[in-house]
Amino acid sequence: NFAKASFKDFENISGLNAFERAEVFQEFTDYMVKNGQMNFRFMTSKQGCGPEMWVTSPFNQKPRKCVSLVSNDYLNFTQHPEVKLAAIKGIERYGTGAGASPLIGGHHEYHEMLQKKVAGFFNRSEDSALVFTTGYTSNSAALLALLKGEDVAILDMAVHASVYEGCKETNLKMFPHNDLDFLERNLKEAQEKYRTRLVIIDGVYSQDGDLARMKEIYDLTKRYGGFLMVDDAHGIGVIGKNGRGAMEIFDLVDKVDIISGTLSKAFGHIGGFIVSTPEIINFLKFQSRQQVFSSTSTPAAAGLLKAIDLIDEEPKWREMLADNVAYFKKGLIDLGLNIGNTESAIIPVKIGDPHKTGDAGRLLLEAGVYANTIVYPGVARKNARIRTSLMATHTREHLDKALNAFEYVNQKLHISVN
Ligand code: PMP
Repeated sequence: NFAKASFKDFENISGLNAFERAEVFQEFTDYMVKNGQMNFRFMTSKQGCGPEMWVTSPFNQKPRKCVSLVSNDYLNFTQHPEVKLAAIKGIERYGTGAGASPLIGGHHEYHEMLQKKVAGFFNRSEDSALVFTTGYTSNSAALLALLKGEDVAILDMAVHASVYEGCKETNLKMFPHNDLDFLERNLKEAQEKYRTRLVIIDGVYSQDGDLARMKEIYDLTKRYGGFLMVDDAHGIGVIGKNGRGAMEIFDLVDKVDIISGTLSKAFGHIGGFIVSTPEIINFLKFQSRQQVFSSTSTPAAAGLLKAIDLIDEEPKWREMLADNVAYFKKGLIDLGLNIGNTESAIIPVKIGDPHKTGDAGRLLLEAGVYANTIVYPGVARKNARIRTSLMATHTREHLDKALNAFEYVNQKLHISVN
């Protein structure tokens, strides 16, 4: 029954080979597109990241200009002239690729400088950071290398898919999102049984935009002799007085045992990193298969060196973003919409029903606003929502257009909570 299915249901269909499974999956995605579910075909962007985007959709092949509420380029550094210039200079100097994995010749000067700069950004010694190909790889690769059969990962259930992937070779315990009692039970049970007890949380959660109860989680973890890893892909560069993310808000930048971050969001490029003790970094350099056998940053990483500097040199981008977030949140709340507990630049509009959410995404697009429709397995089945993310460069006009579009959707679909 295609109407009730999600793409998770097609991961593995017993009795079919891989090619047959793909054929059935093709029929399913064709059916979903025919029935107006917009997230079963990619929207093609005809322009770089920005507050507006020219897109073509499965429903309208003619490019059309929309207010974009989909980008993680929170500070719009992908378009910052100095970042672009630095990246171009890096390419002009060293070419477009690294040519090899870091261990066997791809450790170019910008890559080395980037690792030192990331370490310094978190106030750690220069050998405390390691850059990976993406944020996804940072999590999955580091965890696969670090955690083995005698260890346990204790996850907030809402952590990113890459963390789950990284925990495939170790023992797993989970606690409901931000549930401290449950976490304490996990820690108690694990205390005698496992060598490493690594609690893994996000700083900012990617679907609700809310924060971890980080201080309490840190204290509990330490009380039971565990270690804490924080993936703050959506917080670093974006929140905290100095842009050091959720860890800065909780005054834990210097204390978290393993920091994981991405270079693809606030820093406007591609890549990810792990920051930890120099010994852990050295271990990962040689023991992480993805680090040893895969290429990492290109000379365009020179742009990242500038982007990281700009976090300190130009705090105005963070301030503009915070103003936009406050304005947009108030506008949505005034419309009676349920935005949950967000404290970041990710603002969900929670609808619940997946089909209504699909309709809402399409209506927004009709009104010239591109936002993401998030349904299962991105979130739990009854938790479908429109996910918006804001940028520093959205103007009031962009945000008003988006708020008017949400008002229109609410009139049509009655998605408000009061
Ligand atoms: N962690 C979290 C919480 C994320 O949301 C994402 C990206 N959506 C990642 C890690 C992975 O980042 P990247 O895009 O650099 O692979």
